[in-house]
Order: sequence, then structure tokens, then C-alpha cells
Amino acid sequence: RDYEPQAKRRDAAVSAALHAGGIAFESFKDQAVLDGDEVLTQSGRPFTVFSPYKKAWLKRLTEDDWQPGEGEIGTLATPPGAQRVPALAELGFAATDLRALGFVPGMSGARQLLDDFLGRISRYRQQRDFPALKGVSYLSIHLRFGTVSIRELVSRAIAAGALRAGNEGAATWLSELVWRDFYFMILDRFPYVAERAFKPAYDAVAWEQGAPADEAFAAWCEGRTGYPLVDAAMRQLNGTGYMHNRLRMVSASFLSKDLGIDWRRGEAYFAARLNDFDLAANNGGWQWAASSGCDAQPYFRIFNPVLQSERFDPAGKFIRRYLPELSAVPDRFIHAPWRMSPAEQEACGVRIGRETPAPLVDHQQARQLTLERYAVVKSPAVP
Ligand SMILES: Cc1cc2nc3c(=O)[nH]c(=O)nc-3n(C[C@H](O)[C@H](O)[C@H](O)COP(=O)(O)OP(=O)(O)OC[C@H]3O[C@@H](n4cnc5c(N)ncnc54)[C@H](O)[C@@H]3O)c2cc1C
Repeated sequence: RDYEPQAKRRDAAVSAALHAGGIAFESFKDQAVLDGDEVLTQSGRPFTVFSPYKKAWLKRLTEDDWQPGEGEIGTLATPPGAQRVPALAELGFAATDLRALGFVPGMSGARQLLDDFLGRISRYRQQRDFPALKGVSYLSIHLRFGTVSIRELVSRAIAAGALRAGNEGAATWLSELVWRDFYFMILDRFPYVAERAFKPAYDAVAWEQGAPADEAFAAWCEGRTGYPLVDAAMRQLNGTGYMHNRLRMVSASFLSKDLGIDWRRGEAYFAARLNDFDLAANNGGWQWAASSGCDAQPYFRIFNPVLQSERFDPAGKFIRRYLPELSAVPDRFIHAPWRMSPAEQEACGVRIGRETPAPLVDHQQARQLTLERYAVVKSPAVP
């Protein structure tokens, strides 16, 4: 069972065609742990806020929910007559070399990552926000392609103590798996989010347009904003097809709230680049960062990209990994190299506007503009 609007239309068309031919069509829950009517508010409506959803999700969860699902099929039926299953190339897929990125595909690759992660799950809560540390599971691409079972992950988190007090790491990780179900549910029940803001008032926000906005967008995509953490994040995405969760939040916030560019443009760029691209989670993450989402951060909470950098990459280790041109910048300037004096720039060989770009915007000014831009959500225009 799929929750994306286009996939739902596809499945409805297949179902109708099969029914017309007298053939039954059945759909099975497989991607999500709980879906449909399984988690509803007391008045029978879908949740739109995560915390009560998670509470209800945990209350509803039984051991049956993490057993291998009914949808786990053995073999595909043989196509009738002389037909055969088309090769990937015939379907329009280009060959990729994921192994060159150090990625081991298939169920064996997922198993390796899971085994490795289970050895450090107890530290997940403390380490998950630091991109230079190996703190997260990196399993998203396997979840995306179905090479690991979400039910197995839930059962492993529970075996690691996620439901018992004192196992913060496992409990926090289980929470992330619940976020995944939450966003599937939001997309399923509020399919308009694929095109519009979850909160309609936010569709009135006037985003930057025209050539300067296009240039700023290109600089963001290519990792040339002059803000080292944002640029390192975009280089990670462009070079590996993955971006750490903290950086997805920081770079999405930077695009919508520092550059004033429509979150849908960033969402589409992530969709094209992420190997773990998932419409529900990506849209949910972007709408969270742009504040238009169901349980988003308030519009006046604007990440300061320098403070985020100081907090989550304190020694600049992640920055230097992806921006080697900054390796000689002293630690105290690594988060904001433009604060170096001309003499300090000369001394380390990193000159602003030469070896590294000047910051595209001044964060404090951008912040003010964003507060003004978002003022429309307080008083939606009367039609
Ligand atoms: C702007 C933005 C865009 C995002 N786009 C995607 C996307 O296209 N595909 C995607 O799978 N995730 C997306 N996420 C969520 C999250 O960043 C990734 O799931 C996570 O970074 C994947 O790394 P991991 O497997 O090591 O995660 P871990 O921290 O190990 O988490 C385990 C799993 O929990 C789920 N999960 C974790 N965080 C979230 C979340 N916030 N929302 C939904 N599920 C979550 C994922 O399936 C993940 O694999 C996005 C977040 C933001 C802020």
C-alpha cells in the first residue's frame, strides 16, 4: 500500500482495470507499521500534532504489529504468455554505482548497517545531532527501497529497551521511526500537502522571485552560500546522495528563511538528489523547516546558521571534511570565516571572495526580512 497521491491514483487505475477483467485486487500494509484508521484521535480524526500521535501510536502497538507482515511476499507470479518482466533500463532507469559511494546494496547491506548501529543505539540520543560523528543508523535508503523491514527495526528498538525507562537511545530512535509513520499518515490524509502548505495561511507568503533569487538558489544548490555548515551540507548531498538530519534542517531553514526562497524549490532539489528520497518525509521535513507544516516550528524561530554550526560541529570537523579549502582556517573562525581580518585571511591563505565566497546574505538582516515576509500568516488576506 502506497500513500503518495500519484501512486494512489496508479493503484486505483490498476485495481479498476483488474476488476473490469474479473480479477481481484488486494492491497497490503507494508511500508508503515500502523496506517489508515489504526491511529486516530478520540473523536476519530487524524492527528495533526506529533506528540499525541506518538502516544496513541505506542498505546495501539501490539506484538502482532512488529511480526513479519502479511505483505511480505515470496515470489512474483510469472507473467502470462510470452511476456516477461522488463529490465530496469527498459523502464528508463540509468545504471548507478552506489558501491563507489561505499554503499552496500541489498538486504546484506542493510544487515551490516543495522548490526553496526545496534552496537551504538544506546548513544543515539546524545550523538544523533552531530554530523561529524557516526551517531545515526544510515538505514533510510534501505527503508526507502525495502531492503530492510520496518517491523524488524521496531522489534530491534523494543528489544534494546525502547519501551522501558532508562533506554533513551533506543526510545529516541523508535520515536524517529514513529515520525516516519506520522508523515506517511499526513500525506495519506492530507494529500494537498504535496503541492501546498499544510496550513493554508502560509500559501500567502511572498517568496523571492526573479534573477537574484535564481542566482541565490543556484548558490545554495552548489554549496556556495559562504556559510560553511550550509555549504558542507550541500556538498555532502551532491557528492553522496545523503545528508545528515541536522543539516537537512539547517539547510532547509537557510533556503526558506535566510534566502526567502519557496520551500518547494528546495524540496524538489532534495527529491532529485537524495538516495533516500521519500515524498512523505521530505515534504514533512521541508514544511517543518518553512513553518508551514502540521507540527512545524513557529515561523519566528529562525535557525542562526553560525550558532547551529558552533553547536553541532564545534571543531569544524564536518565542515573541513566537505570543504577542504577551509582546512587551514583557525577553529575560532571556521563557522564564520568572513570574521577574519585581512591579515588573518592572508595568514591562513583563505581570502574571502577568492578561496571561499563571501556570505550571500547577512543573517540578521535576512531574519528581519523573514519576520516581515511571514507577517501575512498572522492576518491572512481577506478575499
Ligand atoms: C528537510 C528535510 C528533508 C528530509 N527528507 C527525507 C527524505 O527524503 N527521506 C527520508 O527518509 N527522510 C527524510 N528526512 C528525515 C531525516 O532527515 C532522514 O530520515 C534521516 O536523516 C535519515 O538518516 P538515518 O537513516 O541515519 O536516520 P536515523 O536517525 O537513524 O533514523 C532512523 C529512521 O527513522 C526515520 N526518520 C528519522 N527522522 C525522520 C523524520 N524527521 N521524518 C521522517 N522519518 C524520519 C527514517 O526512516 C530513518 O531512516 C528529511 C528531513 C528534513 C528536515
